Order: sequence, then structure tokens, then C-alpha cells
Amino acid sequence: MARLLVVEDDDTIGRALRSSLAVHGHDVVWCTSGRDALQAGRDGRFDLVLLDLGLPDADGIDVCRDLRLTQPGAVLVILTARDAEMDVIIGLEAGADDYLTKPVGLAELHARVQAHLRRAETGSRAAADDGDGGSTVLGDLVIDLAGRRVLAAGIELPLRAKEFELLARLAAQPATAVSRETLMSEVWDEHWFRSTKTLDVHIAALRRHLTDLPPGTALPRITTLRGHGYRLDPPETG
Ligand code: CA
Repeated sequence: MARLLVVEDDDTIGRALRSSLAVHGHDVVWCTSGRDALQAGRDGRFDLVLLDLGLPDADGIDVCRDLRLTQPGAVLVILTARDAEMDVIIGLEAGADDYLTKPVGLAELHARVQAHLRRAETGSRAAADDGDGGSTVLGDLVIDLAGRRVLAAGIELPLRAKEFELLARLAAQPATAVSRETLMSEVWDEHWFRSTKTLDVHIAALRRHLTDLPPGTALPRITTLRGHGYRLDPPETG
């Protein structure tokens, strides 16, 4: 049974989300304000958080940022209005892993929640099982698969779960084009059929991690392949 935090001030929507998730066997805590959500984030541990960005007493983006800190292991999914593209991008940059647009279809909600929970569980099991999961070395970058961490010239990069998985997936085939569809389905959701904005934001974050380092550090580069996807190019070797 997974522990879910639902943050939604609209009574009808909140009630529907809570009962739908509870019917599927999840333990659900429902908060109707930003203040309660922050408190819940400090008091307990959750596997997944559904966060409405339009809250009466707080900026949803601030709540998102705070929950990212208090719930580092949780999958953070923001709920936004259908046309709020900027909210989505800012939310993803503030630490969300994914988003759903309102009105949220309960079938889609359930499918998405299950996909996230399954993936989170598989990821931690793989890491636990595989004491010798090995690592991928690209110049000064070491991707420690067993330990789920990345070192750049010996310094650990503060990657979020999805950033790590995305980098590990690209690094599994260095210098090889990987399509957007492949990345979305393997890192996020096998039934992904919508916008891949989430992918672009995570790629941008990874690029920041890979450039914000002392000069002379030999790190791979993420190359954009227009109309296709991305490629991780190993650093030039002198
Ligand atoms: Ca709201």
C-alpha cells in the first residue's frame, strides 16, 4: 500500500481524488491548504504527492519547492489548468516529476499513479538487489548505477530521481541517438501519449548540472537532435 498526499482546495475534486485513490488501495492524506500541505510534508513520508498549484493561502510553486525538500523520495505530480503551460514548466523546475491537467480523468490519474509507483519500486529494488550494478564512466563523469548517484570529478551531483534515470538511460548508449518517445516511455510512463515538455525541462536541468563545474572537467554533453530526441556525447579525449 502506497502513502499518498493529495493537496487540493476544491472540495468536490479533492473528495473525488481521495476516494478514487483509496478505492485502489492507497492510504491517502488530503490537505486543502498550502499550510496543511507543508505540515504534512514535514510530519510524514509519502510515496507520491498530487499537488494542485492553485491554492487559497499559498503560491503552489512555493509549496512544490518545499515539498521537494521535505519529501525527497516522493514522486511529485502537479495538477494544473489545461492551458497553463508556464505553470507546468515552472512547476517542473521547482521539483515536480510530472503533471496532470484538470479536469483530471480518474482512469488516467490511476494509470499514471500506478506507473509512477511501479517505477519507483522497481528502481529501488534494482538498486538494492544489485550490489554490483556497476558504473558507467564517461570522462570525469561516473554514473554509479548501484548507488544511484552521479559523480563529476569526484563531486556528487544533486540529481533528482528522474534526472538520474534520464542520464542513466542516455549513458546506457553513449553517442547514440535516443528518441523522445523511447525516453518518455522508459523513464516516465509506457503509455505516454501527450506532450513531452517534462522531458525538455529535465534535459535542461541535466545540462545545468553538467556545465556548472570547474573548467577543465571533461564531461559528456547532451546534444539535441531536432525532430528526434537526444544523444549523450562522451567528452573529447585529449
Ligand atoms: Ca485550486
